[in-house]
Amino acid sequence: MTESKDERHKKAMQKQKTKVDANIAAAAEERGVSILLTGNGKGKSSSAFGMVMRALGYDHKVGIVQFIKGVQLSGEELFAKKCPAITLYQMGTGFTWNTQDRSGDIAAAERTWEQAEAMLKDDSYNLVVLDELTYMIGYKYLDEQKILTAIANRPREQSVVVTGRGGGSALQELMDTVAEVKDVKHAFRAGVKARQGVDY
Ligand code: ATP
Ligand code: MG
Repeated sequence: MTESKDERHKKAMQKQKTKVDANIAAAAEERGVSILLTGNGKGKSSSAFGMVMRALGYDHKVGIVQFIKGVQLSGEELFAKKCPAITLYQMGTGFTWNTQDRSGDIAAAERTWEQAEAMLKDDSYNLVVLDELTYMIGYKYLDEQKILTAIANRPREQSVVVTGRGGGSALQELMDTVAEVKDVKHAFRAGVKARQGVDY
């Protein structure tokens, strides 16, 4: 007699459950994680702010440092300012192709990094988001080793999320989780304007 669809489904699900349960049992380490969200598609910063929302749900303390950004007002900035559990620091210089001022950008990057470094030493922060940090490494505005050391030596329970394209192999090596958002298509390239509450 042939197995019914329902029976086959049940067997497959049992098999999958055994695998999932084994994986859950194998993951026994309790500590904060480091996450790199990279790639050319839309969703890196959005994903980081999704984790901010999760953390806030548990009344965790969140630190956000935004490199590059900060000239244009964003929904995340407006939200962070309304939310006492979030400390937000923005580099505020905007994009390098707008500033066209390398030494000014480097000085701003250094000032901004000091804020990030302080958060990475402070165990009262459960989650630290370093938005667009990868560009500071890519443009050599900040010393890569200094960044890697600070992330590696952060408090054990603290999680850190780094966003931005690139970032280099040393950062990828260090981070516990690395995910790449693939660009399939983007509304902007079809002529649709960036949207409040969606893109910024
Ligand atoms: P988001 O903040 O929307 O999650 P992101 O962090 O993945 O985007 P960034 O490069 O930081 O990507 O994007 C900054 C802005 O550029 C956002 O407004 C975003 O919608 C837009 N954007 C992101 N990816 C693309 C793309 N592939 N083409 C055009 N615009 C993009
Ligand atoms: Mg981003």
